[in-house]
Amino acid sequence: MPQHSDFDKLRRALPKLTLEQARQLYSELGSVLQDMERQATTPELTRTKGREVVEVRHINNLEGTGTTTHLYQLERIRCGKAGCKCAGEKGELHGPYWYAYWRENGRLKSRYVGKRLKPIE
Ligand SMILES: [Zn+2]
Repeated sequence: MPQHSDFDKLRRALPKLTLEQARQLYSELGSVLQDMERQATTPELTRTKGREVVEVRHINNLEGTGTTTHLYQLERIRCGKAGCKCAGEKGELHGPYWYAYWRENGRLKSRYVGKRLKPIE
């Protein structure tokens, strides 16, 4: 509901903008749109327990049929081994390491990348 009325308000306000405001809005909208499109094409990740996401990057992979966006996450992880330094609430997590995530036929895939970010094949 509020989304629709916000949208209507926005549209009604458009003709009242100055050229400068319209330009500014146009460029802001461009980057908002880019973010939204990225989110729509990248796998939504559920926060996994014992993982801490340090950094997130989106990298487009050009393929024959189009573009897939791979999501790269720098993560600190808890390996789950008993007695490891990472065990427990205050344990020291491993990493950080990069992991790649993408969707293939609707399935979420992931791959370990390593300490340094490099795009996977
Ligand atoms: Zn560990």
